[in-house]
Amino acid sequence: MESENDEAQALRQLILATELRLKNLKEELAEVETRGPPHGRAEETPNELESLKDSKWPLTAEEYLRYGRQMIVPSIGIQGQLRLHAASVLIVGAGGLGCPAAAYIAGAGVKSLGIVDGDTVEVSNLHRQILHSSSTVGLWKVDSAIHNLKGLNPNVEYRAYREHLSPENAADIVSRYDIVLDCTDHPKSRYLISDICVLLQKPLVSASALRTDGQLMILNHPAAPPGSNAGGPCYRCIFPKPPPANQVVSCGDGGILGPVVGAMGVLQAVEAIKLITAGLKVSHTSDDAELQDPKVLPSPSLLLFSANSPSPFRTVRLRQRRPDCFACSSQAGLTPESLTSGSLDYVAFCGSAAPVNILSAEEQISAAQYSELRNDDSKKEHVLLDVREKVQFDICHVDGSINVPFSKLQRDLDTTYPWLPETSPADAPIYVICRLGNDSQVVTRKLKESGLGDNGKRSILDIKGGLMAWKKDVDSSWPEY
Ligand SMILES: [Zn+2]
Repeated sequence: MESENDEAQALRQLILATELRLKNLKEELAEVETRGPPHGRAEETPNELESLKDSKWPLTAEEYLRYGRQMIVPSIGIQGQLRLHAASVLIVGAGGLGCPAAAYIAGAGVKSLGIVDGDTVEVSNLHRQILHSSSTVGLWKVDSAIHNLKGLNPNVEYRAYREHLSPENAADIVSRYDIVLDCTDHPKSRYLISDICVLLQKPLVSASALRTDGQLMILNHPAAPPGSNAGGPCYRCIFPKPPPANQVVSCGDGGILGPVVGAMGVLQAVEAIKLITAGLKVSHTSDDAELQDPKVLPSPSLLLFSANSPSPFRTVRLRQRRPDCFACSSQAGLTPESLTSGSLDYVAFCGSAAPVNILSAEEQISAAQYSELRNDDSKKEHVLLDVREKVQFDICHVDGSINVPFSKLQRDLDTTYPWLPETSPADAPIYVICRLGNDSQVVTRKLKESGLGDNGKRSILDIKGGLMAWKKDVDSSWPEY
């Protein structure tokens, strides 16, 4: 009985808090509607910081309480807090890295926090993108994130950029901030962000994560101009060439464990707070850079995190700036004009993994046709080969299918075909299926070339569009994962 009362009491208080938040949102909306968004981009107004100028104390009473526990850390102190109070931070990407990074940076009390992301929240994001919630699915990620951050710390000035960072908008956006966090998940964004940070002399905290592994680097720190030996290396110094497009695996394809990417985002916030409180300069000129002694440059390093390793954290030392770097060396080909004019084509530079299209129409069958044939007694005798990785096959598969992972077939196509059922007739057709219909085409071609088709006696067909088409055209209950 008592616990029911407690629960009712807690719910009453939550309703009150939500009503208050709703009232604030309505007030914000009314204000935005009167003002109209400038340049089509929402700019959040600063609040509650304006009364500081005449005060005897540099922070408000509420701020002393709010930041007290971090201010008494010796490496932060009041000096560090005031530097945070003056700092502006840009987070590119409001996903698995950006959400925890933004939460801790907003919580630490920076002056302004900009977030760039052109995507909307999806249910499949929620296990790792902790600022979003089931109730914000379908909203812009930046709006969902900032809504949450305002609850966390209303003293920060938030700016929402509902777009992807591009060569056209990068200079305008990045120039407003002191430090940038790359929380994106694709090489083309990484090169663009690094290039604009070199050009505008902004330090960059870069991280990435996939499956159970992550990595973290501080780049362009100190943020000296291109050609200066006093600057830290840029992304191109470490990775002059992007990985082949077909080897780039995104979280969607490769999978990601929430707390792994979360840990990397938290570490980005740690590094950003360390840089700011150590006295990050607000603007860097060539003269500033000359003051830096190359002998006392911080030694750049790459932090590797591997959740399944017995010693999960490792550090690899990195070299200083590459003497022939395209972006930051004295021979740099990168200029503000080349970046904004579009002559640097980041998509072309990084390549794109285009959908595979290597089979003729006769070598493919639609999901619907395949489903019909499963129901036809005279055509039932066949082999359905599912080439997804085992972990995906275990989640769901079509009845009667045989699993031989694509990676295994690529590595070693055993031409005794040990996976073929012994009872299956030598001319039983083989249908190949995968998640989206790319890998299955490669396997279909490979099996035919290996002679399994026996000069046309046995047909080997690819199921076009894979299990995505199966869900769309045949079985709507198929679990999309
Ligand atoms: Zn470089």
